[in-house]
Amino acid sequence: MTRDAIDDRLRRWVASHRRVFALTGAGCSTASGIPDYRDDRGEWKRRAPVMIQAFLTQPAVYRRYWARAYAGWPRFTAAAPNAAHRAFAAWEAAGPLVQLVTQNVDRLHQRAGSRTVIDLHGRLDNVVCLRCGDRTARVALQETMADANRAWRPESATAPDGDADIDDAVIESFAAPRCERCAGLLKPDVVFFGENVPRERYADACEALAGAEALLVAGSSLMVYSGFRFVRLAHEAGLPIAIVNRGRTRGDDLAGLKIEGDVGATLTEAVAALAA
Ligand SMILES: [Zn+2]
Repeated sequence: MTRDAIDDRLRRWVASHRRVFALTGAGCSTASGIPDYRDDRGEWKRRAPVMIQAFLTQPAVYRRYWARAYAGWPRFTAAAPNAAHRAFAAWEAAGPLVQLVTQNVDRLHQRAGSRTVIDLHGRLDNVVCLRCGDRTARVALQETMADANRAWRPESATAPDGDADIDDAVIESFAAPRCERCAGLLKPDVVFFGENVPRERYADACEALAGAEALLVAGSSLMVYSGFRFVRLAHEAGLPIAIVNRGRTRGDDLAGLKIEGDVGATLTEAVAALAA
């Protein structure tokens, strides 16, 4: 099939649905410089991300998480919305996109102008104390960590979700942050692997899906069940499902339309045709 024929299928799909629920994943943010966890076959590209139990019970894992997060933060905050984020914002402004649910924690959809966004896995720019519940801005914690780690200068590569690769020996010298009020453990306000999406947030997304007439998945391999379950729900409800992703996804068998490709390029074109 030619590239034009593929693009035309998505254009027609976008043009033919008035109430669309969209689910986005890491593939939407890679063009912004935030790497993806998985390759084209949905397999881990690198060491698997931190599991919540290890984070809570192993001080070395807690320290490693925060050392990497600290080193990766400048690059993470420098990321700006790309064509994919702008296409979703334009689609919403045009009317037919009624709910955007993202698995990303970078808030780039909101920065591109999307309003009806559910951050399914939370947001990395907030930090919560696991003991007293105190909430702080991640940017403020970055300052606190900088003060406590004046001599600490890791040479690092950027990794997914504001993370960075650092040698284990270097990590041992990093002073991990604690709550300034109660000395409890701090965690970014994101859903870690091994954790569930908060019940109310999931219910809000389900309610939006119930009011939609079609589901689009963009830039997600759907390997995480919290995202994949919306595809299953949509399929059970008989909704048309389209998937735009570079590489295989867990939902391919349930989708009536699968577009292999870059989300930004394909969706920009499809949404532009809608406005024309
Ligand atoms: Zn606390």
